[in-house]
Amino acid sequence: MRTTSTYRAAARMIAAIGAASLVAACSGNGGGTTATGGATGGGSAYPDKNITFVVPFSAGGPTDTVTRMIAEPMAAKLGGKIVVQNVEGAGGTVGAGEVARADPDGYTVLMHHIGMSTAPALYADLGYKPLEDFLTVGLVTEVPMTVVARKDFQPKTLQELVTYVKANAAKVTLANAGIGAASHLCGLLFQTAAGVKLQEVPYEGTGPALTDLVGGQVDFMCDQTTNTSGQITAGEVKAYAVTTPERVKSLPDLPTTTEAGLPQLQVSVWHGLYVPKGTPPDVVAKLTEALKTALADQKVIDQMAKLGTAPVPAEDATPEAHTAKLQEQIGTWGKVIADAGVKAS
Ligand code: ASP
Repeated sequence: MRTTSTYRAAARMIAAIGAASLVAACSGNGGGTTATGGATGGGSAYPDKNITFVVPFSAGGPTDTVTRMIAEPMAAKLGGKIVVQNVEGAGGTVGAGEVARADPDGYTVLMHHIGMSTAPALYADLGYKPLEDFLTVGLVTEVPMTVVARKDFQPKTLQELVTYVKANAAKVTLANAGIGAASHLCGLLFQTAAGVKLQEVPYEGTGPALTDLVGGQVDFMCDQTTNTSGQITAGEVKAYAVTTPERVKSLPDLPTTTEAGLPQLQVSVWHGLYVPKGTPPDVVAKLTEALKTALADQKVIDQMAKLGTAPVPAEDATPEAHTAKLQEQIGTWGKVIADAGVKAS
């Protein structure tokens, strides 16, 4: 997969971070919305009631956006209804824990991202084990991140941002979606690259963080293009760079972090679907087939392209590829986070 080296670079950066004691975000439950399918499913009765897709971050954020994109075509393929429910808190660990404890019947499905692989090293008392308490359904997408600030924030370029935050470390605020969230990791990488420690403001998702950024209540953050593209294009936030080796087609004017003079800041965010361990294999197979169908849907491809990303190749939308990715990422991030002594408390 294209980002292994990217993660290695990011991992090296995290390894350079000094020990820090960080406060996890609090939790809460959001409402649900429903995607309905028209076609009938396979031979068995599944699904014969609503399927809940748990998003462990706020509604309107990047994880939520990707989930809602695929829910409708997945529901159509399965011949059922998918209800998207936001179960926010503690960098995605509240929602993940709820799915780990759910009945293993295929009616509770988790959408999670890179945070699934970082949480075991960050949280002393996680309450679930990603590789033991879940079955993987398949990878979904891998999303670039952007460094964005409130519109009237003084620095105009990434280099100026580094200089500014170093000179104003005590007053600059950096938003994230809680310890272990992608925005938190990217923010750590930024602080390490810049050689500064900033005041972090945790939200239950980067949806509300972006609202505050647009409103000027917080200074800057690092977040996925699936959340920031609209506001960047509309000029509602100031965008400094994209954190991938290549520019993003949908944001052609935005330089890469390498072009902008901070090549150490490289990270992108993979997403996957999970069910609780013990879910019957034929149910997992149906979910995987539905995922593949959704990722091949032209509407989904177009929606993702507009937001700077794309579905994973079909061979990665499988439990095998997903488990391999999760294992590799837990190893990579677990070691460097432990070495660095970064902890949620
Ligand atoms: N993906 C975001 C993050 O990890 C959280 C969200 O989806 O709201 O920062």
